[in-house]
Amino acid sequence: MPNLARALGSGGHLLIARAQVPTVTNVNNASILTGVSAATHGISGNRYVGPDGEESELNRPEALRADTILATARQAGVSTLAVTAKEKLRPLISAGGVPAVSAERADDQVANGAGPATAAEVLGEPAPDVYDPALSLYALDLALALSERLGARLVYCSLSDFVAHKAGPGEPLAQSFYGAIDERLGCMLDDGWRVGLVADHGMNAKSGPDGTPNVHYLVDVLEEAGLPARVLAPIADRYVRHHASLGSIAFVYVDDPEALPAARSALAALPGVEAVLDRAAAARAFQLPRDRIGDLVVCADSVTVLGTSAEEIDLEQLSGTLRSHGGLHEQEVPLVICHPLAEDVPSEHDLHNADLYDLLLNRTVS
Ligand SMILES: [Zn+2]
Repeated sequence: MPNLARALGSGGHLLIARAQVPTVTNVNNASILTGVSAATHGISGNRYVGPDGEESELNRPEALRADTILATARQAGVSTLAVTAKEKLRPLISAGGVPAVSAERADDQVANGAGPATAAEVLGEPAPDVYDPALSLYALDLALALSERLGARLVYCSLSDFVAHKAGPGEPLAQSFYGAIDERLGCMLDDGWRVGLVADHGMNAKSGPDGTPNVHYLVDVLEEAGLPARVLAPIADRYVRHHASLGSIAFVYVDDPEALPAARSALAALPGVEAVLDRAAAARAFQLPRDRIGDLVVCADSVTVLGTSAEEIDLEQLSGTLRSHGGLHEQEVPLVICHPLAEDVPSEHDLHNADLYDLLLNRTVS
């Protein structure tokens, strides 16, 4: 990544920051965009159980309980733009009327003010498939082309983690992907953009030596113990080929409150389960909104994933072995500011991916 190396060699910073738990897309994109924890912004997963007891995607702008930095800047008259690789994130990043497009749906979306042309027409290329590694590169190209077209001054571009799910560090697919990202970074820096890069979450291999995932199906475990319960995987979304809805954290809803201690013991006894917290303790420990998590929050170790039931999860959807995220061991992420900073940055312990825009907007020197 020669352009990244050039930025770091001329005063840029490579820092280590922490992601918000659950370490999944919607939660951490909301953190990065709002600059605050999930307890304040309210996004506790890619899905959640709403007040009506129904499970749904947690991606509507109205679900956000804090303004995004882009929305606030837009209100102050700054031209803004948000681009995402995956359509699932577009409603969230468009909160506050921010022009937003997804690479996935670029063939039929128009960014406000970009004229009658679709996003794909602005770029002059059709959108790649959602499981094509090129989707993220296309999102970056869209961000560059549309920001020029719209005269945007503050831009957010969120990529897909498909490549990180499918290839470990150093593997050929990862190498070529990051090389191609670096080319786009070079374009942005050459165009005079002030650029920060951060991951929404980390990624770990979650399969045993035989290639199958190290998984516990929590509905099945609790049913066997005579404890009917509902389980929600905060990682679950419509892109099942990434992770088959298997991540290292789960929210458990127990039908009978009296059964809570027994359910907790049954889950805590599973090999690979590191912690089972009740609602109040989890909200405190991870800064989560109490009303949007389970009665119990189950955290697995770095190599174990938690699913709903064997019947519901289709492992055939996975291509290759499982690499996934969601838990406590995917909290450490790189945070890059491609420019000199005016003062000492916060210590590693205090730095979060949610600090990206603060560092970029308030602490870089021009
Ligand atoms: Zn993922």
